[in-house]
Amino acid sequence: MTDLKSMPLPELTAWLGERGEPAFRAKQVFRWLWRGVSSFQEMTDLSRPLREKLAGECALYVPAVARKQESRQDGTIKYLWRMADGNCVESVLMRYRHGNTVCISCQVGCRMGCAFCASTLAGRVRDLSAGEMADQVLFSGKESGLPVHNIVLMGIGEPLDNLDTVLKFLKIVNSPEGLNIGMRHISLSTCGLTEQIDRLAREGLQLTLSVSLHAPDDATRSRLMPVNRSTGVEKLLETCRRYFETTGRRISYEYAMIDGVNDADWQADLLARRLKGVPGHVNLIPLNEVEESPWRPSRRVAAFQRRLEGHGVTVTVRRRLGGDIDASCGQLRRRAMREQ
Ligand code: SAH
Repeated sequence: MTDLKSMPLPELTAWLGERGEPAFRAKQVFRWLWRGVSSFQEMTDLSRPLREKLAGECALYVPAVARKQESRQDGTIKYLWRMADGNCVESVLMRYRHGNTVCISCQVGCRMGCAFCASTLAGRVRDLSAGEMADQVLFSGKESGLPVHNIVLMGIGEPLDNLDTVLKFLKIVNSPEGLNIGMRHISLSTCGLTEQIDRLAREGLQLTLSVSLHAPDDATRSRLMPVNRSTGVEKLLETCRRYFETTGRRISYEYAMIDGVNDADWQADLLARRLKGVPGHVNLIPLNEVEESPWRPSRRVAAFQRRLEGHGVTVTVRRRLGGDIDASCGQLRRRAMREQ
């Protein structure tokens, strides 16, 4: 069965063109798909024979809400979606003053193996399709009744480990006939796959790249993130500098603060030194505790922030949302898996 929802508009136009349909027909179908219809019968401005032909040839699946949790503290909503093959992934809808942001997953599980992350504990099951990613945005909005202004690729999975599909996803959500979300309203977070960062740079997109750094020294970073064992901090930051030079976009460096592991003054000093000449800012994240892991949140976030600022680094501290609903990093999927 053909999956029309994973096709950006030009691809859909070509596909329908091969079946003798004019370009405006593709636009009609694309609009219906991204309005969230659940059957081809609902595409009422298409002829009945065309609707039947599409229904015979194509799958049209709408993800089901397997679980939903809403934070009483701040209105954050977390969805666990069940997809056509029974696998589940999560998305989080966060309500900020600057708009509603949906954090989506790009893989079922993850194979990057970061030591503090719940999403990678059971490895990667499969990649998500472009349609499954865009559906998380569409249906988080529809299900909650809230408009979606921003997207962050910071849920389960490593976006640059599924880059071709992520690029299609970006075209779909960015399209005015699709979800119409501007590139400047999209952030993509990576654990630091340097070849793919270079590839992404060549696409010249205006999205925000976030790099999960978490430590300025190779010993600590390799301990936390297996990806660092082949690509050290220095090569990663060189790649980041190239990314900035090619795209003109400043990078956001994520830094999850872990007690006694990456929160020492010398690490703040080294981080500041290494970021010299690599325009960007540091986003300190209070560690979310994962049951299965030995790491604890740092108690030195403010001190670390001041130390970095003393060196002239721009620093923000991520506000914790949805603390009462497992709202982070694959925790809801883990819980559902444990309970089954
Ligand atoms: N694979 C991508 C995106 C998914 S994770 C990446 O590595 O960037 C999104 C962010 O949450 C990453 O910075 C990740 O390192 C961080 N993260 C994962 N587990 C965490 C935890 N327990 N506490 C705080 N941040 C965590």
